[in-house]
Amino acid sequence: MEVVVIGAGVAGLGVAWRLASAGCRVRVLERARPGAGASTAAAGMLAPVSEAELIEDSALELKLESLRRWPGFVASLEAASGVELEYRGDGTLVVALDRDDAEQVRRHYERMVELGLPASWVSGEEARGMEPLLSPTIPAAISIPSDHQVDPLRLIEALVVAVERAGGVIESGVEVEEIEVWGGAARGVVGRGADGAEARWAAEVVVVAAGAWTRRLRGLPGRLGRAIRPVKGQMMALLMEPEPVLRRVVRAPECYLIPRRDGRLILGATSEERGFDERLTAGGMFELLRGAWETLPITYELPLLRSWTGLRPAALDNEPLLGQTSVSGLVMAGGLYRNGILLTPITADVVSEAVLSGAQPALAAHLSPRRLE
Ligand SMILES: Cc1cc2nc3c(=O)[nH]c(=O)nc-3n(C[C@H](O)[C@H](O)[C@H](O)COP(=O)(O)OP(=O)(O)OC[C@H]3O[C@@H](n4cnc5c(N)ncnc54)[C@H](O)[C@@H]3O)c2cc1C
Repeated sequence: MEVVVIGAGVAGLGVAWRLASAGCRVRVLERARPGAGASTAAAGMLAPVSEAELIEDSALELKLESLRRWPGFVASLEAASGVELEYRGDGTLVVALDRDDAEQVRRHYERMVELGLPASWVSGEEARGMEPLLSPTIPAAISIPSDHQVDPLRLIEALVVAVERAGGVIESGVEVEEIEVWGGAARGVVGRGADGAEARWAAEVVVVAAGAWTRRLRGLPGRLGRAIRPVKGQMMALLMEPEPVLRRVVRAPECYLIPRRDGRLILGATSEERGFDERLTAGGMFELLRGAWETLPITYELPLLRSWTGLRPAALDNEPLLGQTSVSGLVMAGGLYRNGILLTPITADVVSEAVLSGAQPALAAHLSPRRLE
């Protein structure tokens, strides 16, 4: 089967790896370079429990199932690529900064208990026993041992190698403009090749994994072309020296802090609806630094390495769009919003199953793109 995948983020590369491994002839077309979209901007938290919403979340089971698939996914991807993903299972602490926060964090904890999720309530003192440099004013926290992290840069690097070793082709610098549809079926895509000349790529199946830029593609059915919007996140990296200042991921009301083995401390992230404006702002940086300083005062002393932004691809209802559209051979791997790294294994499995079987997998029955057509 001839497959074209539009976009080399975690969604497109994960699906491409699965399909190439299953014997499909796969070509990934990427406008810039692999990971250039949201995927390498991400923090890399695998955190369905700490992010469990107080309101109903129809994708929660999918997120938990993806978390369960992560250990097997790491083992097979590391074996296929030879790249170590820096998958860390040190858990997460959700902290309250003052008594008002503590009320809210307590409600969050009660919701986790109601949903049967693994979490325990700890006092401020116990939290500081786990992470000694946390602010002395933190009154309480939730400890979530099952929420982990991975390095998104390494994830992309590994997926690129795995796709190519499985026989897939990744073309960078290629912009797809339109999906060709005749007689109710996708036939390929047209766009501009790396040399800028107009080009056409024929395919039996087209997988749309173009992230926040999906709305710029022509040829999607009905309202689907407008169904995904960009949500900007600003991020920053500090250098932990001379030694790590945290072991676990820590989430506070205004920011999260993620220690990496290479000495970086990642701070994230704002959430802003500003269209395709990818610029950093003074206010965004200020909020991250203030939130980090209130949580972990030592951050005040740490060298600043870098700051960046990314655009999360969010669907109208903020849930993923996975599987068959009403056009035969046109499949979506999109709308991964704030959980695309967490959802990488399940997206690869569900979307490749949809391509190979031609049917919508049961696990993602409620996440079919047809709901927003
Ligand atoms: C600041 C920030 C922090 C985040 N933190 C986390 C986290 O901790 N945990 C988590 O699970 N998720 C996190 N996310 C979300 C996660 O990064 C995204 O959900 C995920 O990366 C989306 O992957 P994707 O492959 O769908 O899109 P993208 O990574 O954006 O990939 C889409 C690709 O398509 C290419 N493309 C677009 N249009 C075209 C075209 N016309 N032709 C060819 N190529 C095209 C783009 O260049 C891009 O490379 C975060 C996101 C941001 C922005």
